[in-house]
Amino acid sequence: MADAKTLIIAIDGPSGAGKGTVARAVATTLGLRHVDTGAMFRAVSWKAVHDQLPLDDDAAVARIASQAAIDVEGGIVRIDGHDVTRAIRTPEVDAAASAVAKLPTVRSLLVARQRAYGAGGVVMEGRDIGTVVFPDADVKIYLDASAEERARRRTADAGHSGGASGAAEVARAMAERDKADSTRAVAPLTLAPDAVYVDTTTLSINDVVERVMALVAQAARR
Ligand code: C5P
Repeated sequence: MADAKTLIIAIDGPSGAGKGTVARAVATTLGLRHVDTGAMFRAVSWKAVHDQLPLDDDAAVARIASQAAIDVEGGIVRIDGHDVTRAIRTPEVDAAASAVAKLPTVRSLLVARQRAYGAGGVVMEGRDIGTVVFPDADVKIYLDASAEERARRRTADAGHSGGASGAAEVARAMAERDKADSTRAVAPLTLAPDAVYVDTTTLSINDVVERVMALVAQAARR
């Protein structure tokens, strides 16, 4: 029987689907490391904006992805020692991360870091964890929710500053980002054939965590 502490649990889905909250709760329950890969893309993008790099320059942004110290442990996000936990959750970094996420060299450098982080057991959330980073993950979940509900959650998220934007603008920017994430050439957001799809629109966080824990128990028995 597999030990739950060595399992690789992949949680993918669009923004506002509840990945962060659920992944954190599952990791805490199982005593596993939690890795938010979106925070890694955001930290690299924050530094690219800070250094005034063109966000479509794969080689230039890849230097950050290969050389910067990036730490996303314990809910605090740091890049080269700067605490960017709050600074990466802004409309400007939302858009920058979605642009940077298209760059193939940046992606492959971050994927290598993610695989190293996950070795030995992890709850990892992102867009391509079950498809690219850990195609053999023990548990694969795809969390989704209606566009309205995801925009509502994002607007209510105290950790994410909305800037000057109202609810309609949040929904519009989110739809644009979803489209870019699902249609890009490299590692688009897509449902892995062996992932369990969970629509969280009308579910509580507890409901979703219980669902994931049941899948983990099943995987641990295999
Ligand atoms: O999950 P979050 O919204 O923080 O991710 C920010 C952006 O990073 C996403 O819009 C997506 O473009 C990118 N991303 C990605 N692959 C991942 C995680 C995030 O392309 N595994």
